[in-house]
Amino acid sequence: MHERVIQLQDALKHKISQYIVSEKDIALIDKAMAFAIEKHEGQVRKSGEPYSTHVLEVALLLSQLRVGPSTICAGLLHDTLEDCGVSKDEIKKQFSSDIATLVESVTKIGNLSFKDEKEYLAANHRKIFIAMAKDIRVILVKLVDRLHNMRTLSYQSEEKQRKIAAETLDVYAPIAHRLGISEIKNELEDLSFHYLYPEKYYEVAKLVEMRKAERDQQVTDMIQEISNLLNEHGLKHRIFGRSKHLYSIYKKMTVKNKRFDEILDLMAIRIVTDDAVNCYEVLGYIHATYRPIPGRLKDYIAMPKMNMYQSLHTTIVGGEGHIFEVQIRTESMDAIAERGVAAHWRYKEGISKDKEQKEIEERLSWFKDFGLLSTDIDEDAQEYMEAVQKDIFEANVYVMTPKGRVIDLPNGSTPIDFAYRIHTDVGHTTIGAIINGVLLPLNTALKTGDVVQIRTSKQSNGPSEDWLKFVKTSHARVKIRNFLQKKEEVERKALIVKGEAIFKDEVKKRGLENSEHVKRDKVEHILHQFNLKNLDEMYYALAARSLSTAALFEKLVVERKNILDLGLGRLFKPAVQKKTISKSGIKVAGVDSMMITLSQCCKPVFGDPIIGYITKGQGVKVHRIDCPNIIKEKNRLIEVMWDEDFDKGKYEVELSILANDRSYLLTDLVTIISQYKATIQSVNSVVNDDKVTATTTLKVNVDDFNHLQILMVNLRKVNSVISVERITR
Ligand code: MN
Repeated sequence: MHERVIQLQDALKHKISQYIVSEKDIALIDKAMAFAIEKHEGQVRKSGEPYSTHVLEVALLLSQLRVGPSTICAGLLHDTLEDCGVSKDEIKKQFSSDIATLVESVTKIGNLSFKDEKEYLAANHRKIFIAMAKDIRVILVKLVDRLHNMRTLSYQSEEKQRKIAAETLDVYAPIAHRLGISEIKNELEDLSFHYLYPEKYYEVAKLVEMRKAERDQQVTDMIQEISNLLNEHGLKHRIFGRSKHLYSIYKKMTVKNKRFDEILDLMAIRIVTDDAVNCYEVLGYIHATYRPIPGRLKDYIAMPKMNMYQSLHTTIVGGEGHIFEVQIRTESMDAIAERGVAAHWRYKEGISKDKEQKEIEERLSWFKDFGLLSTDIDEDAQEYMEAVQKDIFEANVYVMTPKGRVIDLPNGSTPIDFAYRIHTDVGHTTIGAIINGVLLPLNTALKTGDVVQIRTSKQSNGPSEDWLKFVKTSHARVKIRNFLQKKEEVERKALIVKGEAIFKDEVKKRGLENSEHVKRDKVEHILHQFNLKNLDEMYYALAARSLSTAALFEKLVVERKNILDLGLGRLFKPAVQKKTISKSGIKVAGVDSMMITLSQCCKPVFGDPIIGYITKGQGVKVHRIDCPNIIKEKNRLIEVMWDEDFDKGKYEVELSILANDRSYLLTDLVTIISQYKATIQSVNSVVNDDKVTATTTLKVNVDDFNHLQILMVNLRKVNSVISVERITR
């Protein structure tokens, strides 16, 4: 076997033995090692070394993060699925389904292509990457995989070097930062910096090197001074100098536009002590001895960073006027700072846990499999960690257009939110959503990784009020509201115009063109009786049929004659008001036994405002009060009313429904009718000349006016329905 492979194997075994004690786990790792070496047999890296050196290096880096055995195995096996034709099932059989899933996820993420297109922004890459990983262990394997590839990048072509370095800087380093693994983040940044901007890199490196010896001496002296100070006060501590990595210096020089010698924290000292209270004590002695620079004190112990970084930072002026940055933290804070979330996955055995360390482990309990962490966690810590986990994995869903553009949306978002994010017009004309190839309801909650295709139609009625009930983004909500408001306004205006025409027609029909009764001020004068404020409202009410022309004109022109004046006096005895119950369920005041029938032209239903028309020889025909056929017949009308005691039957009405034509329109209409328990007598549907709309004529039986109103209101709600009217022939 290759010498380097043997070396790495030994190094890994040694590192593992430092924190993994279970013989079973160690045997499993040994098995994975042998398996990987065997499967990669004969494959060679660009560097000329056997391929297995790569996976061993990856596992070694993972062991330095002290991850659990499953993750180490996943690191060893991470390239076997793709490069060696091993199946997921085989890994599952040989190792565990957990390890197989980890390896599979690592492989999947590796296949994500972060193309250099504008819509593939770096921020999106990171989000997809994290969302796809779903498991922090997958991210760790990918991070160290990338780290080793970056370390060996010199063997690649220059073009590939630039591409990989750019991706590392855009995607991988920020993820490492987010997880608080500064060791890896710094190295990834410096390696990328080196390949992306070699000239700048050497320039900064030279600046750092120039007075290095001098600076090193200053740091050594300062360390000695501070250490003596802390010893005087009996404070246990570890103290050391720390060099800033090149990329962060470069960033300060460019982003903050500083000269190299203006960067204050080039000389940095770290003090590690045993608990948080001692951190503040150390800070106290240092500030009492050296002048702190105002505005540079940061307390990340009381207020940890998002990635759980904790430390005190201050900048002080040393004895000879040199400026030092000082970081003060506990051992466990230091571990978190260097290795981030990876810092605490370790076996309970043999590791001393002070109270604080235990607390951090509890916070990290959401990485269950790293497991090995205590299971009895207090609720607050649990809640906190759930929030952090949500923040990383669940704050958003990332879904894709069929062309692969990634759209990030808040959790619980629906295809409607997605459609409005694509374009307002897409949102407005959405009629359906195909999610991963399946047609699903518009209120379906999207999941990360879903491929969403929106079906639109120019003939759609636009957004519906219902959408407001389930959309999650305020963007979509605002657009829908605006649309509905505008639509309502347009409809209102159209109805006012229509109502005005109805009014004018009626004036003409009644021969009132020159009458005082319909002068503007006269009309305005009686509006309050209908609870209307102005003429527009009246026109609107007429068109919307909430006000009948008959009722309006009755108030304008007291036209209904006393029944006696109609010459019908002989039909009744005025002194006795006697109730008459007829088969039709209609009472005629004071009239006995009279033939009463419902007219076929306007088909009144129980509860409609009605009027009787005295025919020649066929008794009284009952019309709706606004039936145009009787409006001019002032002299033959008679007051009639519904008999409340009457055992109601069924009333036939005819409805005309105008709608944008679509499949299943009729089905939807019929569904509503049966849902509201009306009976259908006949249906006739025709597509209109415009080829877009269809008119459906329905004869249905209803119980009464209220039943009819409910039915009509609900028919109007059917998608694509434009209007529902009662027909008068
Ligand atoms: Mn690899």
